[in-house]
Amino acid sequence: MKIIPITVPFPAAFGIGKAANCYAIKDDQTLLIDAGWDSPENRVALKKGLESIDAWPPETILLTHGHIDHFGLGGYLHELTGAEIMIHKKDAYMLDNYEDYIREWYDKAMVDAIEGGFEAKELEDVRSKLLLVSKVMLKPTSYTEFEELKIELKGGTLKAMNVPGHTPGSVAYTIREEAFCGDAAIENTINVQDLKQEFLSLQKLKVFKNIYPGHDRLPLHSQDIEALETHFINRLDDVMIACRNGATLRQIVEKMYFAGSRDESLIKTIFPIKQTSAYLHYLEGEGAVAKKNGMWFALRGRL
Ligand SMILES: [Zn+2]
Repeated sequence: MKIIPITVPFPAAFGIGKAANCYAIKDDQTLLIDAGWDSPENRVALKKGLESIDAWPPETILLTHGHIDHFGLGGYLHELTGAEIMIHKKDAYMLDNYEDYIREWYDKAMVDAIEGGFEAKELEDVRSKLLLVSKVMLKPTSYTEFEELKIELKGGTLKAMNVPGHTPGSVAYTIREEAFCGDAAIENTINVQDLKQEFLSLQKLKVFKNIYPGHDRLPLHSQDIEALETHFINRLDDVMIACRNGATLRQIVEKMYFAGSRDESLIKTIFPIKQTSAYLHYLEGEGAVAKKNGMWFALRGRL
C-alpha cells in the first residue's frame, strides 16, 4: 500500500481558506481521500497529479466530511470516471444542498453574534460571498452514505471511524497505524462546532502512529494531538479570563482574536465568532460560565 498526499489549492479569489490535503491510496484498488475545491484549474491539476502518480482513475472517493473544500471536486471526478463517492450519513445532506447548509450554519452564528453585540451589516457581506460560492459548485449527482464502512485491501482493512466535533459526520479513515482525519485535527484550528465531541475524537485519533490532516503540516503524531488539546484548554482559560467581570460575545471575540485591530476578512470574523461560541457553550456545559442579560460571566477562576 502506498500513501501519496496531493495538495489541492484554495482559490485565491475567495481568500477564505487553505489548500486541502487529499490523499491517494494505492493498493489493489486506488482510493482518493477527499477531492479538494472545485475550480477549472484544480480540475486539470488534480487529474494530472493523479495520472503522474499512476492513481488515475480513482475507483472510490472517500470524503472525510461534507465541506466544500474537501468534497468539491468529487462531483466532477464522479462524472468523469464513475468513481463512487462515500460520505458519513450525518454529513451527507451537505452534498445535496450546500447553500441551505451554509445558510443554516451562518444564520445560527448570526443569532449569537447579534445578541452578542455584532451588527448584522458587518457580517452580511461575508454571508453573501459564501452563499455565492455554494451556488457555483458542481453538486455530486450520486453518492453512497454510510454509518459504518470497511474496505478490504491487500494491505489491510480500511475502516471509517466517526470523529465528530468539526462536523457531526466527520470521519477518519483508518488502515493499520494510519488515520486520515480531514478537519478533525487541524493545528490551532478555529473551526470546531462541538468541543466536547472534539475532545473525545482527539482521544480516538491519538492512538494512531501517523495522523493525516485535511490541511497544513502532515503527518501529525500523538504529541501534535496533545498539543492541540492543550491549545483548546488554553483558549478555554482565555475565554474564562475574558469574561471574569462579565463580557458580551463581541468583547470576548475581540479579546481572543483581534486584540485591537479588526480584520474584516471572513477568516477573522465568522470563524472566530463561531469558535468563541463553541468555547462558551462547552464552558457552560461544564458549569464554568453562565449568561445573564446577554453577558457572559465566569463562575470560577479556571476551567
Ligand atoms: Zn471542514
